[in-house]
Order: sequence, then C-alpha cells, then structure tokens
Amino acid sequence: MISDGETGNARGQSVEFVLGGDLDALLHHRYREQCVDGVLRYPLGRRTSVKDALEAVGPPHTEVESLIVDGRPVDFGHRLQEGQRVEVLAPEPPVDFHTPTQLKPWAPGRPAFLADVNVGGLATQLRVLGFDTLYDNTLDDEDAAAMAEAERRIVLTRDRALLKRSNVVWGRLLRAQEPEEQLAEVLTLYGLRPPFATFTRCVRCNDLLVDVAKADVLHLLEPKTKKYYDAFKMCPSCGRVYWAGSHHERLQERVEWLSRRLEEGEKKNFANS
Ligand SMILES: [Zn+2]
Repeated sequence: MISDGETGNARGQSVEFVLGGDLDALLHHRYREQCVDGVLRYPLGRRTSVKDALEAVGPPHTEVESLIVDGRPVDFGHRLQEGQRVEVLAPEPPVDFHTPTQLKPWAPGRPAFLADVNVGGLATQLRVLGFDTLYDNTLDDEDAAAMAEAERRIVLTRDRALLKRSNVVWGRLLRAQEPEEQLAEVLTLYGLRPPFATFTRCVRCNDLLVDVAKADVLHLLEPKTKKYYDAFKMCPSCGRVYWAGSHHERLQERVEWLSRRLEEGEKKNFANS
C-alpha cells in the first residue's frame, strides 16, 4: 500500500467533492490549491460524516443548501464511503427563510439576525433599516449559538468556528469585509427589499421605538433641537430619544442609495465582491 504522508490513508480511499457557487473560495488554502473547477478529492479517514469532512476542508455547513451523494439527497450526518461523489450546492439568492429543508430542520420565518462580535457595524446598519438584530459582544460562541437556536435567528459572522457548531442551523459566513458591503450581501442573499422599516428600532439595543410627546422629553433636548423639531421617538429600554435631525437625513440618503443599488444589482453576486 502506498501511504498518503498526511493522513496515513491508502491512496485511492477518497471521496470527491463537487462544490457549487463560490464554495471553492471558502476552502482552506491547501485544499484550494488541489481544487480544480470546483472539484476536490478528499482523502477519507475513519468513518466520517459529510459535515465533518466538508468543514475540515473549509466551508461551514451553514453555507450549504443541499447535499447530493451519488445522485441522492442526504443530510449532514451521512457517513461517507470510498469513491462517493458529493455534490455540495450553495444557496441561490433569494434564500427562502420561511421553509425548513432537509439540512435545516427549522426556519426563522422572519428576517431576524444574530450579529457576531466581529460584525458590529453591520448590526447597527441592519437596525437602522428596522431588522431585528441581536448583538451582544459579551456572548461567547457557545452562548451565541444557543441564543440563535432558541430565538430562531440567522447568525451573521466572519468566524467559521461559530458556524461549524451543529446547533447553528441558519448562518452566513460574510464574504464582504466592510459593513456597507456586508449589508448589501445580507439583503441580497435573503431577498430583503425596500421599503424598509427605517428608524423604527433603537440602534443601541434593538428595541422598537415608541412615539413620545415633545413635552415629555423637553428636558433632554438641546436648544436647537427644541426649536426645530416636534416629532420624537424613544427607546423603552435605554431611554435614548430619536428625531429626524441631520444625522437622520444622512442615514436616509444612504438608505436610498442602498435601495437603488439593490434594484440595479438584482443579479450581482456579492460573493465575489
Ligand atoms: Zn435603546
């Protein structure tokens, strides 16, 4: 037997991954070099599940829409056998987050997110647009995964390790690095389109804002704000007061710019941006 230096396996004991979409870009460096036209031969160890093998080469299971082994759909627990051909399909936007699938036993049913500590800027932007986005930089990976599962949220992160946890069912390993690009990536992937519920949610703590009478917040306002503005909202959690000031106008302009961009780039694949 000819030994494979790295795994100790006999040569020939392998499976073939056929990676769809941009999944080949998520391969770890050494596997990316071995991958030709999305096809990667992977040396098979002891009885290995598809999930473990796939995550060993790079893509977290959350990035997979469906798995076909020798023409048959399987789930992540499928035990690989020598010579099998594993088609790994990537999600096509817009992803339907209302319906469970073979690989995703439950669905969020509404656009609700959990933003990981590494994407705080994205969390703020999602909240500005009114999307329910949990962000708590004191959560570790274990707690974040448990929270996302308990509250049926989509995990957004740049951290592969978090997405490899088996109780993370819905997630996105963000390809983009800048918050604005990440926002476009998320909105495109999940087919979220204007009109958005802008300025309805506290950017600091995610709570829905409530209308508040000017008289009740007068003592909190700067003289110019008192003079020029009459409509106010307040966060019931942190007490922050919101009004349509110059900051609001700048944000509104960005929201409009983003909306135009989403319409123009309906087919653009942000995965490669
Ligand atoms: Zn608040």
